[in-house]
Amino acid sequence: MSCFYRIVFAVFTMFSSVVFAAEQNQQTLLIHAGNLLAVPGEAPVQRQSIIVRGNLIDSVVDGYVDPASLGGEVQLVDLSDKFVLPGLIDAHVHLLSEITPEGRNDALYITTSMEAMRGVYYAGITLDAGFTTVRDLGGDPEAIYALRDAINQGLIDGPTILAAGSALAATGGHGDVDGYKPELLELWTPETICDGAVECRAVTRQTIKFGADWIKITATGGVLSDTSTGLGQQMTDDELQEIVATAHNLGIKVAAHAHGADGINAALRAGVDSIDHGTYLDDESIELFKRTGAYLVPTLMPGVKLPESMEGNPFFTDDIKEKAYAAGAAAAGNIGRAYQAGVNIAFGTDSAVTPHGLNGEEFALMVQVGFSEMDAIYAATIGASTLLSKYEQIGSIEGGKLADIIATDNSPLSDITELENVTTVIKGGKLIKSL
Ligand SMILES: [Zn+2]
Repeated sequence: MSCFYRIVFAVFTMFSSVVFAAEQNQQTLLIHAGNLLAVPGEAPVQRQSIIVRGNLIDSVVDGYVDPASLGGEVQLVDLSDKFVLPGLIDAHVHLLSEITPEGRNDALYITTSMEAMRGVYYAGITLDAGFTTVRDLGGDPEAIYALRDAINQGLIDGPTILAAGSALAATGGHGDVDGYKPELLELWTPETICDGAVECRAVTRQTIKFGADWIKITATGGVLSDTSTGLGQQMTDDELQEIVATAHNLGIKVAAHAHGADGINAALRAGVDSIDHGTYLDDESIELFKRTGAYLVPTLMPGVKLPESMEGNPFFTDDIKEKAYAAGAAAAGNIGRAYQAGVNIAFGTDSAVTPHGLNGEEFALMVQVGFSEMDAIYAATIGASTLLSKYEQIGSIEGGKLADIIATDNSPLSDITELENVTTVIKGGKLIKSL
């Protein structure tokens, strides 16, 4: 085939498959929900019908609607013995990777294409676990944007992804490369390392230009950098302020990785939209959270699970272990206090540090530090969708919203660990899983 015809053929195939997918998706789905938590925060209601046309929720009605009464082809999803709720949202994942004992060698062996392939797999198991939307806060930009776009185009199944690409970080700080010989450090330094307000402004704009939905910054040290430089503030006040102002001017929100109180408070003063981890937050942080309306994304899982898995695993050097033990111990109390004080909370797990697909285990940890079951679910639905500026589309089961719907066998309001075993997943009107 000549080049010209190959292009015409490719365009034609693309076009026809898009049309085909759109036609297929115009079917009606009728869900009979035994118990329905349509809007987290409000009480669940029994015996409801959810009518889905294409990828959108058409309406929610009392009682079980007869499929024949809807006309046309109707697929009935019988969840009359299940507990039905909105698809879950994880506001902090890294879909392209997962920690393994050999993780430090990955940079030597894993190509960008292979990262994308892994991402396809991790995206699939994340969706299967009931998470229909995620915010990806750091990974190879080319791979994560391709994964995001392929899912949006319906080529593969996975959660809707809002991606930050590579994180902005200070030279030598968390987010920069560490622990290798100088020639390799030179070679692998991410393009998003920036020093000084002017450089950080340029890097923020570059990151957005190449496709980021969010800007992720590492305001403080991190547990997993192989350094003994601690968990305190690393990006300076002027850098933080410049990044936030630049991103906001372009309509993009900013997420700050932050452990130490100094860095949390500096990032909040600079106007970031979320503080992720928030390990050592203090009274001033709580005041700043409440004044700015910024969200806290607690990610309790690594703090609890890492210490269990570190011994004997060469990925965890002594420097990392020391930080992990201290941070894990501090997080629970501080996150609990922020919740009690009424800080806005969005659910997040930092999956990649812990295995993908186990995201639902975060809920039980939230309840352990004081969350009510309803508030934990709220954080993973309405809370997270508001942080992501997506509440018009997701976060509750209401007419006009995307049909992102999941179910469990029993009520997670009585036993939150039900969310570790999601039995039904519907994303954008497509039945992904039904046990
Ligand atoms: Zn993270």
